[in-house]
Amino acid sequence: MIPETAAQVESQLATRGHVLLSPEQQAEEQTWRQQFAQSIRTPQALLAYLQFNQQDCQAMLADEQGFNTLVPTSYAARMQPNNPQDPLLLQVLAQSAEAETHAEFNQDPLAEADYNPAPGVVHKYQGRALLIAAGHCAINCRYCFRRHYPYAEQQRSRAQWQQSLATLAKDEHLAEIILSGGDPLALTNTPLFALLDEIEKLPQIKRLRIHSRLPIVLPARITSALCQRLADSRLQVVLVVHSNHAQEINSEVNAACLRLKQAGVTLLNQTVLLKGINNEVATLCALQQALFSAGILPYYLHLPDHVAGTQHFFVERSEAKQLHQAMQARLPGYLVPRLVKEEPGKAHKTLIN
Ligand code: SF4
Repeated sequence: MIPETAAQVESQLATRGHVLLSPEQQAEEQTWRQQFAQSIRTPQALLAYLQFNQQDCQAMLADEQGFNTLVPTSYAARMQPNNPQDPLLLQVLAQSAEAETHAEFNQDPLAEADYNPAPGVVHKYQGRALLIAAGHCAINCRYCFRRHYPYAEQQRSRAQWQQSLATLAKDEHLAEIILSGGDPLALTNTPLFALLDEIEKLPQIKRLRIHSRLPIVLPARITSALCQRLADSRLQVVLVVHSNHAQEINSEVNAACLRLKQAGVTLLNQTVLLKGINNEVATLCALQQALFSAGILPYYLHLPDHVAGTQHFFVERSEAKQLHQAMQARLPGYLVPRLVKEEPGKAHKTLIN
């Protein structure tokens, strides 16, 4: 059950032995959960929020192909009203092109099913393992490489998490646990902190990496209770956010990132190169600069994966290389993310030079 009142939150935390939250902290927790609960959940509601007229709405609506619309209002508020080409809108609005099929695009282009030793675990690379910590996100990005992922099959109870972690504990080379999803920060504090407690019990684990889009799309999630828990961890904490466009970085995102930095969290960003959204050198350069101003270091620029239903976002490798070279000519080296492609069967991401 996701608690909705401050009393419920307090009762849950007290039951699990966590430090009780102050009234201000309880209000923060309630705020992000309310924002999450009040997210936009239909394309019609999104287009109405952006003031498109009835005729435009009819022309823009498309089948969601079983991947539901989900957009926090605080993210929609950063879109330009009445602009069908808005780069934030295009990331979340279903388009008719999603119904097209193509032989090279499939539901599991990274073959993650081949690296799934236990439900909820993806173990591809030496030294680190990925846990599917949550079966949902705070936003549904239309280009997502896990839009077809069988989250329901991978859902785990806390007892089963312990079993998975016990399996991983036998790997003496494992130094890093990656929480992914879904989005791990879409979990409420109680299950998230309980999972962190379990990970911290594994003696060989040195680093915790959290992959989350919430600091960008729902920055209210970065509460003082969350930051305190991360600051108290014995692990080095790295948070890899996911931003694709400078328009996503507003004052709330900046404030959330500052809080994380003050908690000792290392902030990195990964971007997906997306046709019609950020495949221009000025757009990519503006993003790196906005990220750095927010205290986030550019990390990866991903070539999109061959995910069924996302062909209209695809950028060819030759174009990506040209864009990357142009970024290198315009930015200092520390602001240029590594251009990479993930390929099934490889022991690491492929660097594209
Ligand atoms: S937040 Fe990440 S995992 Fe979730 S839908 Fe977007 S790209 Fe996919």
